[in-house]
Amino acid sequence: MIETSLYKVLVDCGFHQGQDEQKHEGEPFAYNPGGVDALILTHAHIDHSGRIPLLVKEGFKGKVFCTFATAELVEILWRDSAKIMGEDAQWRTRKNRRRGLPPVEPLYTEKEVEASLKLISPIPYDEVIEITEGLKIRMREAGHILGSSIIEAWVSENNGNKPVKVVFSGDLGSLEGVIEKPPTMIEEADFVLIESTYGDRLHKSLEETRTEFENVLKDALKTSAKVLVPTFVVDRAQRVLYELDLFQKKYPNLQMPKIYLDSPMGVKVTEIYGKYIPHLSRELKEMFLKGDDPFEPENFQFVRSAEESRAVNDERSGIILAGSGMCSGGRIMHHLKHNLFKQDTHVIFVGYQAYGTLGRRLVDGAKEIRIAGEDVTVKAQLHTINGFSAHADRDDLLEWAGNFSKKTRFIVVHGEPKPAQALAMGLSDKGYSAWVPALNDTIDLLAPIEERTTKMPVISQRIIDRLEISPQDIIQVLSAITSKADEIQKITIESKDYAKIIPLLVSAKTLMETAASLGENTKKSA
Ligand SMILES: [Zn+2]
Ligand SMILES: [Zn+2]
Repeated sequence: MIETSLYKVLVDCGFHQGQDEQKHEGEPFAYNPGGVDALILTHAHIDHSGRIPLLVKEGFKGKVFCTFATAELVEILWRDSAKIMGEDAQWRTRKNRRRGLPPVEPLYTEKEVEASLKLISPIPYDEVIEITEGLKIRMREAGHILGSSIIEAWVSENNGNKPVKVVFSGDLGSLEGVIEKPPTMIEEADFVLIESTYGDRLHKSLEETRTEFENVLKDALKTSAKVLVPTFVVDRAQRVLYELDLFQKKYPNLQMPKIYLDSPMGVKVTEIYGKYIPHLSRELKEMFLKGDDPFEPENFQFVRSAEESRAVNDERSGIILAGSGMCSGGRIMHHLKHNLFKQDTHVIFVGYQAYGTLGRRLVDGAKEIRIAGEDVTVKAQLHTINGFSAHADRDDLLEWAGNFSKKTRFIVVHGEPKPAQALAMGLSDKGYSAWVPALNDTIDLLAPIEERTTKMPVISQRIIDRLEISPQDIIQVLSAITSKADEIQKITIESKDYAKIIPLLVSAKTLMETAASLGENTKKSA
């Protein structure tokens, strides 16, 4: 939230995703939604947009600014999320009724989605627009999914002072930009809020990823059985369709089965991608110009209705793309149920599988799983392709950040504690001040520049000031220790220095053991 004496404006308002998702579900807002004047949405993904209808339900009446493509995509994602929450609430209500418990209400319904859609106010890329007195913004290409944007915001009070420039990276795409354009490089900012999803990891190169995908496909096609591709239907499905198209062009003599995109939502999203050709990468634009749709490989079929989807079950072979990407629902479930027990079925995972999902259990080697109340033995051959990520990796993030002048202060967000700390350290190695805020921390945009390094100054300060320490602080300190340990392992230490280093490390180990036993004790006494 950007707050001045003139306004309160939010940037994104999404669902919590990741390990402690359940814990945050239904959590109240830390502010009064009715007191928020406007919202700027970086892109349609549900971890950025998912709670907007809830905000509206609780009194938000301002405008929602986003790009034109985001406006179209977010409608599809909101409707889907209302539908899933509605079904989930019904299921939980039935369960509760048997135990004499009260019914479960979904967080929001179609009604709040409709009300939220009325607030959407699309704006073009690259134009400076005053959205309220004292706040100008410009949306720049973020290269992450269609419509994704980096927000440049000029924040001022009405006192004639120079505005403070804050850049919100949103989610950034890879600098290679396969189906999207690469993210815009920006040079000036006082503050940058930078995402850190892959702040500690590098992706495989495009070439390696393509070779990997080709090899898996060639292997899978030998059996002429089903090839199932669980996939997110925004961006990832379009990317896989494009890769399949490239594969067919490269191996025209290989016998390819029919390709299906089995998702009404995926069909709509693909149509929207086709509508915004000027926003896509150069290679895709060139294909479209030649009249060749990159999202329509040969022998391809969209599957819309449930009957059509069931009919695909009767086919002996076929490459089936369907949601959800982590096999936590959607049409992929019935395809898995009907094919996982067959030895010649292939399943290709093309995205991250979060802990606790069926996809993750499969990737981790589960031999038997339960789908829709039935036990299914897993005999299919499973493959994982990790390189199709829509996110910048560590090198991309540091290169994008490296365009800012050295006076820019980085605030590292949108990452698990470890990658966030790792990115902050990478930024301070480059000479920037960078830190990882805890939830609900406040940053004074007008405070004089002070040395903020990633060596846990905020937590240390809180200890000195005897302020409350949260579990998040422990995670941050621990991940800082872990990255340091990784770093020490990587550097070659001269043997003459062993005597200096080992005693320090041994005492660090003793301290850690003491901390762990203190933790144990408090757990017991609790
Ligand atoms: Zn995203
Ligand atoms: Zn995100």
